[in-house]
Amino acid sequence: MTGILDKIRREWVRATVLRRFLGTGPAGRDSIGLVVYLDYEREFGNTAAKEPARRGFESVVSILHEHGMRATWNCVGLVGLHYPETVERLIEEGHEIACHTHSHISPSRVCKSDLHADIAEAKSLFKERFGVDLRGFHSPSDAWSRDLIGVLLRLGFEYDIAYERQGPGRSISLISDRRHGGPKGRRVLLRVPSAGDDWSLFCGDRTPEEIRNGWAGLLTPGHRGETFALGFHPWILGMREGHMRLFRDFVEKVSSLGYVRVLTGREVAEWAGNDSPDTTDLK
Ligand SMILES: [Zn+2]
Repeated sequence: MTGILDKIRREWVRATVLRRFLGTGPAGRDSIGLVVYLDYEREFGNTAAKEPARRGFESVVSILHEHGMRATWNCVGLVGLHYPETVERLIEEGHEIACHTHSHISPSRVCKSDLHADIAEAKSLFKERFGVDLRGFHSPSDAWSRDLIGVLLRLGFEYDIAYERQGPGRSISLISDRRHGGPKGRRVLLRVPSAGDDWSLFCGDRTPEEIRNGWAGLLTPGHRGETFALGFHPWILGMREGHMRLFRDFVEKVSSLGYVRVLTGREVAEWAGNDSPDTTDLK
């Protein structure tokens, strides 16, 4: 859910950070590079989500398993603490574990030191408990700020996923902020643009049919050469059978399209770090 203040803030941040678009991503000119991501927060994002989150998790994991599809799971640290067996299962299934803060806080609503402490806590929990080095981040409420960029760079994150307005072709980009980085830390963060998520299923501002068509519209051949992410919440999908059916249909459609290549966020970041000719630090 994004408030008007978050939108204004995001536009301001977008105008003040340095960006470099990388053009065609790892999937190449003839394919769509798609990152399927799940915001895995269970009841720590919405206290009413406990039961739908349990159901949703089980169904999403098995649908992905059936189709051999690996996704990027942006996990809340508290989920790792209270439902460690589910995180272990995701790791066993080959999914990427990424970060959605420790306690599902919105970066635009806390001070920089609290933000640092919260994300650092998630980082060390996943390292110590699961041996996972978190590299990717997706922000609750999709909120981001210059402070957040600095915190992520200092904590060793390599990429984030954030909503981007529709443009003439979605592209991954490198973002930087003159105030951050330095000899020890990375100076640039890879931005994987999100084309949207399943929030409309929850708030009901679009019909399921409109949502289905919206997702299908992202996967038309005209989008080849683009790299972007599309997000889901297990607890939203677990609320109704119809929601999960839409997700299943989506996964089936993605699997059936030869020109759609599903990537994890980490794979996109590795490509940008190794193979892209444009990875020199932004000045
Ligand atoms: Zn969330």
